[in-house]
Amino acid sequence: MTSYESPTTPGPSGGDQLAWEAWPTLFEHVVGAPSAGLHEIGIDEAAGLDVPSEPVLTVVHDPAGNDTGETFDTLSKADRIAAWLRARMPHRIRFLVGDPVPMSELAQTHAPEYLEAVRDGEPRELAESSGMSWDERLWTAVMASTASVRAAALAAWAGRTVTGATSSGLHHARYDHGAGYCTLNGLVVAARAVLAAGARRVLVVDLDAHAGGGTASLIEGVDGIEQVDVTVLGYDTYESRPDARLEVVGAKDYLDAVRRALRSVVDPGTVDLVVYNAGMDPHEWAGGPAGITTEVLRARDRLVMEWAEAHDLPLSFVMAGGYRTARWDLDDVAALHGVTFEEALRSLGRRAAA
Ligand SMILES: [Zn+2]
Repeated sequence: MTSYESPTTPGPSGGDQLAWEAWPTLFEHVVGAPSAGLHEIGIDEAAGLDVPSEPVLTVVHDPAGNDTGETFDTLSKADRIAAWLRARMPHRIRFLVGDPVPMSELAQTHAPEYLEAVRDGEPRELAESSGMSWDERLWTAVMASTASVRAAALAAWAGRTVTGATSSGLHHARYDHGAGYCTLNGLVVAARAVLAAGARRVLVVDLDAHAGGGTASLIEGVDGIEQVDVTVLGYDTYESRPDARLEVVGAKDYLDAVRRALRSVVDPGTVDLVVYNAGMDPHEWAGGPAGITTEVLRARDRLVMEWAEAHDLPLSFVMAGGYRTARWDLDDVAALHGVTFEEALRSLGRRAAA
């Protein structure tokens, strides 16, 4: 499959698509104000032209997050996703880079000795406990990835809008070690940052193929952070509890399980921010069960976004799983993640019209 033909080509069904090419050229009409913790890159030079407003999605992406010897998709796909967005919807995305995460904040989520191991490479076994090989650039890369999640969450909350980050490799990471290609748990770092900024309740919606056992362990006993989790693969599962609810399902029940998870949120109007771990690895071509197609994942993303809209909740999403297979190269994976950005833009459009 060639690049940029996805996301409609993967999966058997067609489905409606946004007609990107038909949209007028426009620049820099940002829905929601940029907040502290961000600085701009890559804004079109014609910013400020007086053209009719169409939603523009704020996406936090730091190329440093890719800049390591580790070539596993979790880190390397972020640049491909940004390239796909630039090629496919150049005037609908506003790229930003997040400010570094203060060590004092990181130390609330991870053990100092683990952070030092990832930074220094010693002990090597701990430094590589996520499964990714260590080199001297890994620390910079995972810090950049974490900073992006945090900045996107802060921007969504401050602007009461929808934002995204190109980061992956978050939800399996524990307090004192990595796991499942997740080094630092940016979901929890971001949720804590938003709470510290004044929010009272952050909901993590984890729809990656694998369960978010790292997040569940890290938010236990933390006031103000809860998780709903639907998984199609039995990795990193945990016992459901009131603040971290997990359901393991097959393809047939997938969208219903997502609905159930969202409905299980008590008093949703009091959620201050939804952090959406939008893994694409439930896809049947990416290791998920037969029947979960691109269109199913598009419907899933739309469910989440419409639920957030219905309760007037800001939402920030990240990439999570989605991998090269014999059938798909990294550009195809990037295009599959593009579905989430398309649905986020639709959500912004609906929010602006409401
Ligand atoms: Zn996964």
